[in-house]
Amino acid sequence: MAFDTIIANVRLPGHDGLVDLAIAAGRIAAIAPDLPGDMPRWDAGGALAFPGFADSHVHLDKACILDRCAICEGTLTEAIQQTAAAKAGFTTENVYARAKTVLEKAILHGTNRMRSFVEVDPRAGTRSFEALTALRQDYAFAVDLDICAFAQEGLTQEMATYDMLDACLGQGAQMVGGCPYADPDPERHIALIFDLAQKHGTDVDFHLDFDLDPTGSAIPAVLRETEARRYGGRVSIGHVSKLSAMAPEEVSRIARRLADAGVALTVLPATDLFLMGRGQDRLVPRGMAPARILHEEGVVTTVATNNVLNPFTPYGDASLARMANLFANVAQISREGDLAAAFAMVTDEAARLMRVPEYGIAVGGVADVVLIDAPDAASAVREVAPVLAGWKAGHQTFERPRARLIQG
Ligand SMILES: [Zn+2]
Repeated sequence: MAFDTIIANVRLPGHDGLVDLAIAAGRIAAIAPDLPGDMPRWDAGGALAFPGFADSHVHLDKACILDRCAICEGTLTEAIQQTAAAKAGFTTENVYARAKTVLEKAILHGTNRMRSFVEVDPRAGTRSFEALTALRQDYAFAVDLDICAFAQEGLTQEMATYDMLDACLGQGAQMVGGCPYADPDPERHIALIFDLAQKHGTDVDFHLDFDLDPTGSAIPAVLRETEARRYGGRVSIGHVSKLSAMAPEEVSRIARRLADAGVALTVLPATDLFLMGRGQDRLVPRGMAPARILHEEGVVTTVATNNVLNPFTPYGDASLARMANLFANVAQISREGDLAAAFAMVTDEAARLMRVPEYGIAVGGVADVVLIDAPDAASAVREVAPVLAGWKAGHQTFERPRARLIQG
């Protein structure tokens, strides 16, 4: 049988020992040990093969703006204000250049699916949306980029934003996102974002409950709208740091409601750790939603990058292996199964949240393959294992050879 390429000597869950992956016409044509043939061969040397990282929550439009902002307090309010001032000066070319830097890093860290928010409002105009639309096309060879037109600065007090979101959805934005905590009328904000989603038939994603007060959650409003509009499976919420201030029994109760309604949740460790608990001068709370409990109660739970090098998160390299490790460290998990779940939060679970139509390495399936230098998923998280190479629909998209010791 003729294959285009063989990725030789990979570890693959469900298979004993090392196997070869044969690729033909962009699909996995065979999985077996020692496949014969003289087609091009890439020796994985025992690395773990998986379908690639999926980053379910990134802001490419406002990445890499530390040179335009000052961070004095390190609070959410300051981050929103600083970014609002900076984005008035964004040009399409500038957004494209900064977003490209982060997207290329993500690809080189093994990410081949991403959901990026893009702020659309009277200050940003539609310039950032236009930049990401061009980027999406230019990098389609390596990454499936979903663009979420996003109201970061409220809606009901500035309905011009609503019309601009509507226009972007009409021009190809894959989905719509809201931020009720930044709106004077959070419940109406949620309803309006759902209106836009329904009008355009898209999924919906909310930045939600981003503080440490256990009261006043917007989750009931999101659940109500999700159920009333029969939108289960198409709704996700991010941050939800209020959950970190609640008793575990209360978190479990809410988690069961989210799972039943089909609302997924994304934890954003880097931003939550940086912005939360600024009022305290010691024993600073972690402020990270207890993802392990949510996952165990059946909520589709993911971990994602959020921001890179801006006032929300002045760090970042777009590596999801590193983010899964940060999450695991902060969540104080150590068991094999919990670490494997952390890996799933940046792979399978994220693909579920993003409703990726095909995800998994199987004969007949699309040949999206990333190699990571670890024996299994839990080890990849423990060690922040480096990725070595990736293929998208059968075409190799990057290579990152193993580091080599030079002696003498
Ligand atoms: Zn975000």
